[in-house]
Amino acid sequence: MASPHPSGILIRPDIPICQTDLPLDSYQPEFQPYAEEYLALPDRMAASVLPWMDGYLERAIDEIGPELTLLAHYYMGGEIVKLVERYGGTVADSYQLAREAVLHPEKKIFVESAVHFMAEAIALLAAPDQQVYITNPRSGCTMEMMAKAFMVEPAFDALHERYGDDLMVVAYMNTSGRVKALAGRTGGAVCTSSNAGAIMRWARAQGRRVFFVPDEHLGRNVAAQVGIGEEVTYLLPAGHDGADVASLSESEQALLDRAELILWGSFCGVHTVFRPEHVTYWRERGYSVVVHPESPRETVAMADGAGSTRYLWNHVMQAPAGSRFAVGTEGHFVRNLKEQAVLRGIDVVHLADMPGNEAAGCGCATMSRNDPPHLVAMLDLLRQGKAPDINRVLAGDVVDEITGYRDRLDADARAETAQSARRALERMIEITEAAS
Ligand code: SF4
Repeated sequence: MASPHPSGILIRPDIPICQTDLPLDSYQPEFQPYAEEYLALPDRMAASVLPWMDGYLERAIDEIGPELTLLAHYYMGGEIVKLVERYGGTVADSYQLAREAVLHPEKKIFVESAVHFMAEAIALLAAPDQQVYITNPRSGCTMEMMAKAFMVEPAFDALHERYGDDLMVVAYMNTSGRVKALAGRTGGAVCTSSNAGAIMRWARAQGRRVFFVPDEHLGRNVAAQVGIGEEVTYLLPAGHDGADVASLSESEQALLDRAELILWGSFCGVHTVFRPEHVTYWRERGYSVVVHPESPRETVAMADGAGSTRYLWNHVMQAPAGSRFAVGTEGHFVRNLKEQAVLRGIDVVHLADMPGNEAAGCGCATMSRNDPPHLVAMLDLLRQGKAPDINRVLAGDVVDEITGYRDRLDADARAETAQSARRALERMIEITEAAS
């Protein structure tokens, strides 16, 4: 029997709420009393966890009032996504999340269970009277962690010295505000997996050289989509700095000089597991294959379709009953999709789930650091007016994902970063809307 709740969201009491427990000392000190209570519950089943959460969350939601919004990304653990919905929150992709503050000016407090760049994207577009919090500041995106501003800027400076204002930065949504601001300063734009093709066409139409940050694989897939050949694409491995660019061999410099597209070599460990043999395996068994474009180029090239999380969800859910899909993206999302699709007579498997490879289809482990005690502690402390500053997200903040230390810009630098990043985000929105 499902657990009843006024929201109407059904959570089976016999399904574990959380994938794995985090160690007590991984919680920030203010959150540890809540984590201790959670860890002392008899198990992680909804029947045990929900009454404990209800006690805190219903009071917090009631006292903070309608100006509060709870948000989560689709990649959060299956039942945790439902928890956010159960308490009236919204589950969305990174593009939709980024626009929440703009689309809902009546909301003043946004509490997000997702990775840090997603919360910061909301903060970049938020009005001064809107506040953004993340339930676990140590929840970072590994792709973004390989492309921090202090890593990308020296390489950009060396490239800029060589190519001047011919160079434009296009920053994938999975970047910090400081990297988005770099894109804004160069006249470039932000992109997401759903609009990267439109953004790249717009950039090409200006005849400028593009430095695409951070995802190598999305960059390659978009290049193929818009007709940029491999011979005019150059990969700068993540971690290269200005000195490396300057010290390239003559032949490498020649390749770099003829590149229309320079890729930063970051990647997502969750999406790079998908291989052509997975496509072959499931296709031979009658499954259509759809993948996220953060997957390697050779896999995307073989798939029947590729696109954002929204594309994957809609493509599968709108298919006729009896359809079969192997879906190549984050594991929690595929599990949720499978659960919904089966109700429509559609069979979904995880693309990497083939014999001998069952453990490969993993979820986004860093995003799942936003577990129930983090949500409970965040909201209960907010209710008491004691929200820790480390959970507050401001434009330009950089978090050390190991220690949780938050490096915050002074007010002037923050305003400049927000303005430049906002320019890049707004350019994305304009181009996307003009193209649709
Ligand atoms: S799935 Fe990959 S790209 Fe997406 S948030 Fe997690 S680490 Fe980042």
